[in-house]
Amino acid sequence: MSLVTCKDQPRSNISDDDIHPFLDQGGILLTCSVHLARNLRQYVDRSRQEYQSVWSSPKILPWSAWLEDMWDTAMLSGQIPPLRLLSSQHEKKVWQQIIVEDSSSELVYPAGLARQAQNAWRLWLDHEHPHGQNRLGQESVNQSFFAWAQKFSEICRANGWVSQAELPWKLVNYLSATSPPITASVALAGFDRLTPAQECLLDFLQERGVSIVLYERSPRQARIMAQPCTDPEEEIRLAASWAFRQLEESPERRLGIIVPDLEARKKSLQRNLDEILFPQKRLSITSRDGVCPYRFSTGESLASFSMIRDAIVLLEFQFQDISLNSLTTILLSPYLPGWSEEYHARADLALFLRETGAQQVKPGQLAAMIRDQASCPVLLQALQSILPYQFGSKDSLFPQQWVQRFISLLQEAGWGQGRALDDREMNLLDAWKQLLNGFSAAQEIWGRLTLENALSHLREMATETVFQAEQGDVPIEVVGIHDCAGLQFDAVWLLGWHDGVWPERRYRNPLISADVQKRWGITAASEELTCEDAATITRNIFSSANEIQVGLPRVDGDQLLQPSPMISDYLDDKAHSQVYRIEELPRLYSLQKTSSIESFSEKPIPFQSGKKVHGGSAILELQSACPFQAFACFRLHVKAPSRTQVGPSERLHGSLLHAVLERFWDQVGDRNTLAGMDQGEVQGRVKTIIDSIFHEQLQSKGMRFSENWEDMMKSRLLDLVMNWLNLERSRDDFSVTDRECSSMTDVGGLKLRIKIDRVDQIHHGQDLLLIDYKTGRVSPSGWFSERPEDPQLPLYCRALHQKGRMVRGLALGLIRKDGVALLGLAADEGFPDKIKPFHKHELGQQYQSWEQMLQDWDRVLEGLAQDFLMGKATPDPRKFPETCRYCRLQTLCRIDEMRKAL
Ligand code: SF4
Repeated sequence: MSLVTCKDQPRSNISDDDIHPFLDQGGILLTCSVHLARNLRQYVDRSRQEYQSVWSSPKILPWSAWLEDMWDTAMLSGQIPPLRLLSSQHEKKVWQQIIVEDSSSELVYPAGLARQAQNAWRLWLDHEHPHGQNRLGQESVNQSFFAWAQKFSEICRANGWVSQAELPWKLVNYLSATSPPITASVALAGFDRLTPAQECLLDFLQERGVSIVLYERSPRQARIMAQPCTDPEEEIRLAASWAFRQLEESPERRLGIIVPDLEARKKSLQRNLDEILFPQKRLSITSRDGVCPYRFSTGESLASFSMIRDAIVLLEFQFQDISLNSLTTILLSPYLPGWSEEYHARADLALFLRETGAQQVKPGQLAAMIRDQASCPVLLQALQSILPYQFGSKDSLFPQQWVQRFISLLQEAGWGQGRALDDREMNLLDAWKQLLNGFSAAQEIWGRLTLENALSHLREMATETVFQAEQGDVPIEVVGIHDCAGLQFDAVWLLGWHDGVWPERRYRNPLISADVQKRWGITAASEELTCEDAATITRNIFSSANEIQVGLPRVDGDQLLQPSPMISDYLDDKAHSQVYRIEELPRLYSLQKTSSIESFSEKPIPFQSGKKVHGGSAILELQSACPFQAFACFRLHVKAPSRTQVGPSERLHGSLLHAVLERFWDQVGDRNTLAGMDQGEVQGRVKTIIDSIFHEQLQSKGMRFSENWEDMMKSRLLDLVMNWLNLERSRDDFSVTDRECSSMTDVGGLKLRIKIDRVDQIHHGQDLLLIDYKTGRVSPSGWFSERPEDPQLPLYCRALHQKGRMVRGLALGLIRKDGVALLGLAADEGFPDKIKPFHKHELGQQYQSWEQMLQDWDRVLEGLAQDFLMGKATPDPRKFPETCRYCRLQTLCRIDEMRKAL
C-alpha cells in the first residue's frame, strides 16, 4: 500500500461572479455542511432564474456525500474492490459489540462509550494516516481505546468493511495506480480549515489534473443594531416580528436567525415563529396548508415523528402490552384506516381508557374494549387483522426476515392509509423505507435477533436518524452556530448570544490525550483554541450580512444576562438601537398572504329557550369558576382528556363509594340499627355490598382491571367506609331519609338535574340535615361569595326548599384516607360537633338569619344561571392562575395568548 504525503499548496479563489460559469462548465461545488449545500443550491437557482429559463441541476454537494459518491463510482467501475461502506449507525454497532465483548470493561452505558470511540476514531483518521510513520502510539490514546481500534480495524478488514473516516485515505491509496473517477474542477465552500485527510485527497486529485479552488464570497459591511428586551421569550417574539417586517417590505429578502444553543431553544422558537409567521399550522389538523416561511438548519430524530412512532408502536404491540400513552397516539393516529370517519369515536375511546386508569393494555384487551364500545369498526378490523400475527417472541431471525414481517404487518394494519399523505409525510415514508433497508442490509453486523431485540435496534436507529423534510426555497433560515459557515444573508438576527452560551463549552474526547488533540488543533482541547475558534466564527458571522440585529435579553428567570464577550466589540457606540414593541407585532404573516382574514363577533349567544341542557350542579360550578369552562363543556360539549394516572380514576373511586354507602343505608336505615350491630357484622355487610357493587358497576361501565387492582381498590374502599361508619355510630340519633335522590330543579329558568347524596332526619324528626359526600379538599367557605367555589350544597338546599322541605343544616361528609369528618353550617346549635351555627362562621356572620343567608345564596345561583343562559362565555378564571391550573381547556380558550396581548 503506497503512502501519500500531504503538502500545503496555495489554492486560487473564485467569487460570486465566477460561480455560474464554474458550475456551467461541470465544476463541483463542495460544502462543509449539508445545510450550506442546500443554501447554495437555492442561491444558485434563484440567481439563475434572473437570466435563464432552463438550466441543468448544479453539482453542489456536502463533502461527505461527495466522498460516498466517488467511492461508489470507483467501486462500480472496478477501480476499487467491492468493500462495504459502513453507515454511521452500523459502525457504532460494531464499536459497541467490541466494547461489550471486552471483558476488562464493566460498562453501564456501552452505547455512549461506543459513540465516543467512533468519534475518537474519526478524529484520529481525520488527522493521521492510518498506516503513516507518525501514527499514534499507545501512549497517545486511552489504552482500552487503542485495543478497541485495533480490533475494529481487524473486523473491518476481515469482513471487507470500510468506515466513513477512512474514505479519503482509502480513495487515495486505491486510486493512486489508476486515474481518479472525476476530472471536473472542484471548488470548496465554507471550510475554515481542512483536515490532513481532506488535504491529502485534494492534493492527490490536484496532482492528477483536477483543479481545486476556494469559493469565497465577498465579506459584507454590516449595519449593527442592538435590540434590548426583557427575556429570551420576548427576544424570540421580537425576532419573529422583525422577520415579518423585513419580508413585508421585501419578500425576496433572505434572512438568518443565528442561535448558539439552537437545540435547547428549538421548541420555543418553533412555537413563537409559527404564531407570528405561520399561524395556519395551528389552525389546521394537517400540515398541508400554506408554506412554512422558515427552516431550521438541523433536522429532528426520525423517531420523533408521529407517523414513524405509530408504526413502531404497532410493531411493538406484537410482543408487549402497550402503555396508555402509546395507545392514545394509536387511537388518534391519522395514519390508520378509518381515521376521518371514526375520529370522534376513537377520541371518546381514548378518554374512556384514561378513565379506567389502566397503565398497560394487552392487544386482546384492546380489541375486546373496541368491540364492547361498537363505535370503531374500521379500527377493530385493522387491529384484528394484525392480532393473529403475534410473532413468537422467541423466534430468532435475521433482520431481513424481520423487515419482511414488519412490512406485511403494517400493510395488514393499513398504516399510512388514514388519509392522503402530504409532501412531508411522503418524505417520511421514504426515510422509513431507507431505515428498514439499512437495518436489513447489515445481517452480518446484527446476526440473528429476537423480535424484541430487532425492534429495539430499529427504534434506536430511528432515534439516531436525523430527518429533515425538503422544503424548497424559504426566506428565513434559523441556523445553529456551527451550521452558518459560508452562509450569507440580507439581514441577520443574533438570538441569545449571551455570556452563558457563547463561546460555548466544548467537551474534549477523553479517549485521545489532550496534547495530541492540541497538536491537531481540535478546538475543544484547550480554552485558548475554543476562544480563537469562537472569535473566527463570530467575525465571519458579522461579515455575512448587510444588517445585523443583536438581541439583548436582560434576564432569564432569576439569572442576569450579559452579552457574550465575543460580540461586545461589535456593540460599541456606533451600534444603532432600535426597539420593536410587542404591541406592534404584526400577525398572521402567511395567513395574510394566503387567505382572507375572517372577522368574528364576541357578542354572547343566548341559550335557545326550550332547549334542554344536559348537566347538573356542575354547570353552575363551572360558570362560577370561569364562564368559558361552562360554555365549552355544556354548550360546545368539549371533553378534555383526563390526566393519565396509575390505577383507577378518583372519579371511579368516588362513584363506588357513593354506591356502597347508598346501599348500606338502604339496608340499615338509621343510627340505632347501626349501633346495634357489632363491628364484625358491619364489616361483613360492607364487604358483601362492595363485592356486588364492583360486579355491577365495572360491568356496566365496561371496565376491566387486573385481580390485584380490584383487590386493592376493594380493600381501600372497605377501610374508608368502615372509618366513616365509626363516625356515624358516634353521632346522636338520626335516620337516613333520602339516598342518591335524583330530581329536576329550576334556577332562574335554567332546569338542572340534580342528585342529592343524602338527607338525614335529626332531632327526633324535627330537622333535616343535608349531607354531601366528598373525597377531596373542600370546606363550607366555598359556599360563599359572588363566585362560590362549591355551589352544590346551596343548590341542593334551594331545591329541597322549593319542595317545601326546610333544611336546617348543610354538611360535607369528608371521607378521605387521612381522616373522616362531618363539616358544615347549621341554623343553630345542637348539630354534630363540626357543624357550626352559621353566625359563628367568619363568612356567615354577615347575615342576620339562616333564611337571609339562604336567600343570598339563591341570588348568586340565579345570577350564575342567568349568565349561562345569556351565553356569557368569557375566559375569566375566578383566580388566575390557580383556576386555570387544573383546567385543560387552555388550547381552546387561548388564555395564555390573551394575557400576553394585555
Ligand atoms: S384555562 Fe382558565 S381561562 Fe381557560 S377555560 Fe380554563 S379556567 Fe377559563
